[in-house]
Amino acid sequence: MREGESSVPVKPTKYIVVTGGVLSGLGKGITTSSIGKLLKSRGLKLAAVKIDPYVNIDAGTMNPFEHGEVFVLDDGGEVDQDLGNYERFLDLPMGRANNITTGKAYKAVIDRERRGDYLGKTVQIIPHVTNEIRDHIKRAAKAADADVCLVEVGGTVGDIESAPFLEALRQLHLEVGHKNMMFVHTTLVPVMGAVGEQKTKPTQHSVMEMRRVGLHPDMLVCRSETRLDPKVREKLANFCDVDKEAVISAPDARTIYEVPLLLEEQGVADWIVKRLDLHPEGRDMGAWKTFVDRVVAPTHHVTIGVVGKYTDLADAYLSIKEAFVHAGAAQDTKVVVRWIDAEDVERATDPADILGSLDGVLVPGGFGPRGAEGKIAAIRFAREKKVPFLGICFGFQLATAEYARHVLGLADANSTEINPTTQHPVIDLLPGHTADEAKGATMRLGASEVRLAHGSRVAQLYHADVIYERHRHRWEVNPGYISKLEGAGLRYTGRDPSGELMEMLELPDHPYFVASQFHPEFKSRPERPAPTFAGLVEAARRRVEARHPKE
Ligand code: GLN
Repeated sequence: MREGESSVPVKPTKYIVVTGGVLSGLGKGITTSSIGKLLKSRGLKLAAVKIDPYVNIDAGTMNPFEHGEVFVLDDGGEVDQDLGNYERFLDLPMGRANNITTGKAYKAVIDRERRGDYLGKTVQIIPHVTNEIRDHIKRAAKAADADVCLVEVGGTVGDIESAPFLEALRQLHLEVGHKNMMFVHTTLVPVMGAVGEQKTKPTQHSVMEMRRVGLHPDMLVCRSETRLDPKVREKLANFCDVDKEAVISAPDARTIYEVPLLLEEQGVADWIVKRLDLHPEGRDMGAWKTFVDRVVAPTHHVTIGVVGKYTDLADAYLSIKEAFVHAGAAQDTKVVVRWIDAEDVERATDPADILGSLDGVLVPGGFGPRGAEGKIAAIRFAREKKVPFLGICFGFQLATAEYARHVLGLADANSTEINPTTQHPVIDLLPGHTADEAKGATMRLGASEVRLAHGSRVAQLYHADVIYERHRHRWEVNPGYISKLEGAGLRYTGRDPSGELMEMLELPDHPYFVASQFHPEFKSRPERPAPTFAGLVEAARRRVEARHPKE
């Protein structure tokens, strides 16, 4: 495509842009996902693009402490957790193309400039970078053959970083026309003073900020603790020049999954359908409602400890948290997740002091030595005390090391990631991989085939012999130790198609001891929980019932 040119999709795709004002963390992602859910329930075909105005190419190199979890897609894309929410709410597989960052947009333009594609012209933010952004969004919509393409703009309107994106969207609006594109602005309505008055000024200012860049919101989604007062709603409509019916109240919900239902009640989707002249086919939120009812009023309770490193930041394990919500709902069970710092377990004289009251233990993915010994201690505790256990990625690797140490008697068995000079590198880089590459894009990433041993526990859980799950790792079980480990009772019941890479392990004489090299949490969906999470919750429930038979 030449400079300045752009391809208009044949079918008029409608665009819904979601921006955020006043402050970050207002739940733009949940708003976007919820609107999408309502439109999907009306039979419309969706695409979604998340704009991240940071300069990183993707989230792959970002520290979970700072940024929350890195979500991994089927195609190996490492993205922001908002794409995880799109997948969970919309049950729509996303790919790298569904995310655009400042880094990606500039890189595409700079690469083209180096190739000489601009024929000696001065390359500028406008039009070259803005065209790239616009084309990226249109390509994503076209690839999905979407009726509606959702575009979520990360950051807050008024940030310098998001300016080129907003300009690109302004141009797209002009190009596709007003009836094909609308803007939803999420904002905060704080409560002040003794009388608890809902204040509209921050929203007014934030809408003014949008107008400054040539955008006009069609709908306001107002976050507040309680529902918007009708008078406040009217005032917002009037001062922000938005239809009163399109001033939406988004009070605190009991669960994020309830938000689509709260928006539906207020006619959000009907308003959008009219505004964009969409042609929906029916609507069905029945199964979703059943799921939400189970999440908010469960009969049973279990407590599961997640022994990790980023335990101060629940966002760092967001997909794990959500996978527990899905698995719990399917079993009418509330999963109380206790976030446990692996270093506390390491320091404890007896791990039982910290882990003793748990109904299950999960050791999640991780990188580097900090806390690794605590995780190994937690795995040993779960194995020996027969507490249901699930290991994921690093948790799978450390379960192998733990078994090698305490059952095979290889005292310093370890991953070479943790101890490069161990006598027994049971987890190692396979030939062709070097430790230098361990950071960044050279990991084994994305979905690939896993074959499950016939009749194994994991094959029963998946009701399948072949599965596709997502990976994000570099180290592998060292093939030199497999027959010894299996000889001592550990069973590798999932392998890659070549049979060389170990993917899942289980212990037969244990209520539930399962681990996987892949991350099952990324493919867990509200109505289709990850099988190994379901297995853990079920085993934890049995343990509770065995302890308190009358419950
Ligand atoms: N650090 C380990 C590896 O790179 C595990 C990665 C993970 O848990 N995501 O292989």
